[in-house]
Amino acid sequence: MDIIIIGAGIAGLSTALSLHQKCDRWTITVLERHDTLQALGSVIGIMPSGTKVLRHLGLLDDVWRVCGDRKPVVNWRRWKDGSVLMTQTPPEREEMFGIRAATGKRADFQKLLYDAAVKRGIAVRFNQYVADVDETVPTVTLKTGEVITADLIIAADGINSATRRTLDPVSFQTFSGIDDYMTSIPCSVLEADPALQPLLTSANLWWGPTGCVIAGIAGVGSEERYYAEFCNINGNTGVQGQWSQEADIAELRTAFADWDPTLQALLGHVESAKIWHLAYTQMGLDWVSQSGKVVLIGDAAHAMLPHAMAGATTAIEDGASLAECLSRATSVAQIPRSLRAFAAIRRPRLAYIQSEGRNRSKMFHLPDGPAQQARDEMFKKNPMMGAPAWDGKHIDEPPSAKQRHLGMPYVVGHEAIDYTNRRLDDIWDKGEEALELKERWWDFSGGDPELVSG
Ligand SMILES: Cc1cc2nc3c(=O)[nH]c(=O)nc-3n(C[C@H](O)[C@H](O)[C@H](O)COP(=O)(O)OP(=O)(O)OC[C@H]3O[C@@H](n4cnc5c(N)ncnc54)[C@H](O)[C@@H]3O)c2cc1C
Repeated sequence: MDIIIIGAGIAGLSTALSLHQKCDRWTITVLERHDTLQALGSVIGIMPSGTKVLRHLGLLDDVWRVCGDRKPVVNWRRWKDGSVLMTQTPPEREEMFGIRAATGKRADFQKLLYDAAVKRGIAVRFNQYVADVDETVPTVTLKTGEVITADLIIAADGINSATRRTLDPVSFQTFSGIDDYMTSIPCSVLEADPALQPLLTSANLWWGPTGCVIAGIAGVGSEERYYAEFCNINGNTGVQGQWSQEADIAELRTAFADWDPTLQALLGHVESAKIWHLAYTQMGLDWVSQSGKVVLIGDAAHAMLPHAMAGATTAIEDGASLAECLSRATSVAQIPRSLRAFAAIRRPRLAYIQSEGRNRSKMFHLPDGPAQQARDEMFKKNPMMGAPAWDGKHIDEPPSAKQRHLGMPYVVGHEAIDYTNRRLDDIWDKGEEALELKERWWDFSGGDPELVSG
């Protein structure tokens, strides 16, 4: 099977690795438009459902190498004064999900995946701008005019995916109105400032009516820095899809001027920041082309708000799941069936997580008042969001609104490979009807903050 993957982001590279691990007779070529990996972005979290896949790929040692051996306590704080609303401890989560999450620099993760792909003999070609995709053959046409034919094209070309627009010209993304400012400061600066020293002992999240701040240490050795991401929900300065635009620091300081004094001290040390505009793709998009020979994955298929903290994790899961689905095909003619099975298995989960991102953004940014007070009380009483009541069994279906204690285990504890195979055992031989999507998964957007899981 000849497979082209468009995009050497986390989705494209991890999918190449999963496919190669599943069948080393498949020929896999990754085409990246840039001349190098883009060392942009800052901190990225891979949840346990993603680290499980990385373990399966034999990459965990490398993951801990680039993340350092940090297992920070996570403090959720009130925006106004920094008082701690709840504390989550890593052993608690590790015990619950059988593996810990990984937090590190985005560029390091991408490099780790790239190095592993090259080591395993996967072709990753740079300077290969895909200008067009013909889903019928299928082929890709590069900007240079070169046409490459394959049996399958996997579009991992990110939130602005041109392939998505080719498959569905009326597909759209929603601009959230939220500006995301990414800053980092040398840890030595925080060590030298008594007001900031306490921040170094935990990861910290502040939630408030006009935004949120997510901060912690990432990187190893001389690259170690304190990263802080400021989301301003009344933004609109950042340019969607541009990750390297320089921010106006005065504007950032103004947006957070009446927040926790510790944050003011932190912002006092910020010299520069990148800004971008958060967006997400619509739910219900068809990920598979009419011919059944092109499929969207990662942000191209299901970009989400970072409040879900699952963009990179779900991209990694996609690759693992897709590899299992393709391995059931006994001939190239069965690729469309594999892709439809993949979509049927993955879309309900992704619809749930995408709407979790939006629900969380509503819940975390509640204006001060009775609803916010009730939320903070719930946080205090229930730092793991009810998850300890979970019996540890895999949750197949997205939890209903009445099962909110299952939200975190469902999102974080998913076993992508095992679940995909169980579903395939069930649907593979049952014909096209079994591959039809269930409609009920559209309906997660309720927006009632009370219903949001952790
Ligand atoms: C520069 C950047 C920085 C980011 N920083 C953060 C961050 O700090 N924190 C966070 O949580 N998330 C961040 N994200 C988002 C996060 O990385 C994604 O949600 C997740 O990793 C899924 O990635 P993806 O591979 O689907 O898409 P992407 O990471 O967007 O990768 C898509 C790849 O496809 C390539 N591509 C696009 N079009 C073409 C084409 N026509 N031909 C060939 N190649 C093409 C792009 O150059 C890119 O390498 C960032 C994304 C980007 C692109």
